[in-house]
Amino acid sequence: MTKRYDYVVIGGGSGGIASARRAAKHGAGVALIEGNRMGGTCVNVGCVPKKVMWNASRIGEVLHHAKGYGFDVELKGFDWNTIKKARDAYVLRLNGIYHRNLDASGIEKIIGHGQFTAADTVEVDGTSYRADHVLIATGGRPVVAVVPGGELAIDSDGFFELEEQPRRLAIVGAGYIATEFSGVMNALGSEVVQVLRKDKVLRPFDHDLHELVMQQMELSGVHFETRFLVSALSREDCGSLTLHAEDGRRIERLDCVIWAVGREPNTSGLGLDRAGISLDDRGYIATDPFQNTNVENVYALGDVSGRIELTPVAIAAGRRLADRLFNGEPRARLDYDNVASVVFSHPPIGTVGLTENEAIEKFGRDSVRVYRSQFVNMYYATLEHKVPTVAKLVTTGAEEKIVGCHIAGEFADEIIQGFSVAVKMGATKADFDNTVAIHPTAAEELVTLG
Ligand code: FAD
Ligand code: NDP
Repeated sequence: MTKRYDYVVIGGGSGGIASARRAAKHGAGVALIEGNRMGGTCVNVGCVPKKVMWNASRIGEVLHHAKGYGFDVELKGFDWNTIKKARDAYVLRLNGIYHRNLDASGIEKIIGHGQFTAADTVEVDGTSYRADHVLIATGGRPVVAVVPGGELAIDSDGFFELEEQPRRLAIVGAGYIATEFSGVMNALGSEVVQVLRKDKVLRPFDHDLHELVMQQMELSGVHFETRFLVSALSREDCGSLTLHAEDGRRIERLDCVIWAVGREPNTSGLGLDRAGISLDDRGYIATDPFQNTNVENVYALGDVSGRIELTPVAIAAGRRLADRLFNGEPRARLDYDNVASVVFSHPPIGTVGLTENEAIEKFGRDSVRVYRSQFVNMYYATLEHKVPTVAKLVTTGAEEKIVGCHIAGEFADEIIQGFSVAVKMGATKADFDNTVAIHPTAAEELVTLG
């Protein structure tokens, strides 16, 4: 049997749902195919449960700080089971909301694994769905460890299934996920070893940001093993895990090892060859700036297209695509420049635009001027332990156009969104100087840099 639609979307994650709903709003007949839990990575094993855990870890920190503000607080412990249950229930509620929103939009939900049988036809469990336009929004999955004993480690999906809090764990990786998980688990009281194959965490970020974050994580108790090239994992007779390095080093007595070394696109089993769809040289679905694949009327976006792997990027690209296809907006597309991002590290990072080094490479050293300030947020005024904040503007040209705005420190996660509007609008240093500060805040540093 073949059913016909205007738009068939494969993948009910951030990008797929956003695009499907926008298309339906424009009057298109839409079917959405999802093989797993509705909402995709972000809702089920990404942003949402991660942020709940980050919130828990921040509350733990605040409870420790409370004494410095005069509170007589006795911290009796942290119950992993309570937060795990509450978090799972919250995610389940969100799954339900996504289902209901799709129903309310008049979208046909097809539960199962979709695969192309032709460029305009996707099959699920023997039924064919034919459409004028087909979107691939199948996201990605964690890269798995290919070392002997690698199956003893879990990945970020497994982290959210942990029924007990590991007492001592190793997290392999240097990116968003490894750094966020390390900070969370350390603040929740686990003994954390973060295992880096190089020397630094978050290397693609501005050097002032990753240096401050790594230093503060170390001061708060995270142990870093650097230049540790994992060669194997083994389980000891007592049940604990050991991580082995190529140079013979060992990290022992581990309850848990988490592999967080990047993600790869969900392209296998999609029948891409039957539709003639090409991948780029990294294995992502190749797309042009309008999300077109090499095959007419087939599009891809979000993590499977390997641009900026963030939920709001997938959502924005999905909506713009639907506007272009179904609302007569031929130029609608996502501008991938100056997308702000937050790392929910300890302390958090907020960043938009170019790093200092990227700006120098792009515009030349003579054209780049950097404004930087390091200070202690007043939050720490009465506390013994003080975590610094670094705020930084990267400008270029005589007009000092701001091409990079970066902050690491308390509340950076909430500060950066507003500043990203200014950067996106092309603000200059003079525009920032002309903005009267809000005092006393950390954000004011960005408009008072001298
Ligand atoms: P996904 O959300 O992954 O959705 C793809 C969907 O397609 C999945 O539901 C999958 O089951 C389905 N699918 C795949 N193949 C098929 C098939 N053949 N048939 C049917 N269905 C199929 N981003 C942020 O912006 N902020 C954060 O704080 C953040 N934190 C993160 C934390 C973690 C631990 C992780 C892993 C990611 C995080 N991200 C964060 C990234 C964010 O989750 C992704 O960028 C986003 O989910 C990508 O959306 P997508 O629509 O491309 O794919
Ligand atoms: P990332 O791309 O952020 O980082 C992976 C890092 O792991 C690499 O940069 C590399 O760092 C290191 N690495 C790679 N291979 C190995 C290896 N074999 N052994 C040891 N280390 C290795 O990937 P993540 O998995 O952390 O996250 C995936 C994406 O999900 C992110 O890029 C981001 O887009 C998104 N995300 C967003 C979040 C947010 O918005 N807050 C949170 C979580 C994820 P190096 O080269 O320095 O060794």
